[in-house]
Amino acid sequence: MQVVDHQGFRVAIAPALADNYIYLVHAQGADAALVVDPAQAEPALAAAQALGVRIAYVLNTHHHWDHTGGNHALRRAAGAEVLGPAHEAIPARTHGLVGGETLHLAGLQVEVLSVPGHTRGHLAFRIGDALFSGDTLFLAGCGRLFEGTPAEMWASLARLARLPATTRIYCAHEYTLANLRFAASLGSPRTNEVRARLQKLQHLRAQGRASVPGRLDEEHRTNPFLWPLDASMRAWIAKRFGVDADDPIACFAALRRAKDRYRG
Ligand SMILES: [Zn+2]
Repeated sequence: MQVVDHQGFRVAIAPALADNYIYLVHAQGADAALVVDPAQAEPALAAAQALGVRIAYVLNTHHHWDHTGGNHALRRAAGAEVLGPAHEAIPARTHGLVGGETLHLAGLQVEVLSVPGHTRGHLAFRIGDALFSGDTLFLAGCGRLFEGTPAEMWASLARLARLPATTRIYCAHEYTLANLRFAASLGSPRTNEVRARLQKLQHLRAQGRASVPGRLDEEHRTNPFLWPLDASMRAWIAKRFGVDADDPIACFAALRRAKDRYRG
């Protein structure tokens, strides 16, 4: 289990299922912690035990089972409160969230952001310089549009992209290598930077280390789904996919369709 130190808190990264990450966030000096997106209860409980804390809160970004599968067991085993999207079916939920809330949980200040697109009620959680982005913003990628429109997902990604450049991104899946391979396949003006990140990450993953957390400024450069923010990249996307360079939503949608078709 990897633990990342932040100012005043730390984040334990607990792998679960095939490629999910469960995050345990613990404020310095607190006896309790919160868990984000427990696919399963056991890895979260093991992380809490390793850090010597109890799990007081579960936060869910969205309703999919691989983000909520541990809710009931954590409520039973640890008595945790369960907070998730108010308008999604969240197992064992005790408090519904819609975005815009600022919560104070276990010594942590949590800003709740509404970021629909992957699901209608999808939330992201911001704690200090850490962003828990669920299945909205992945490292070098973004979630599939299961319930939302390209316009909704684009607005959500653009919103997250405006956070400070030093924001550390903790997404819910280890998809980064596959995402970078897709990005490299596009033949964009950013290909060298994408390849450099891919190589660096291949070494890291070979050592069994997680790709998370990423940094937002690196996402701006090498995540194709943020490229429509940049006018020169929009011009390239427009030429490559035959869409309007003045329309970032169309540029984003073209990239998302290309990724859905990609079988690299
Ligand atoms: Zn999902």
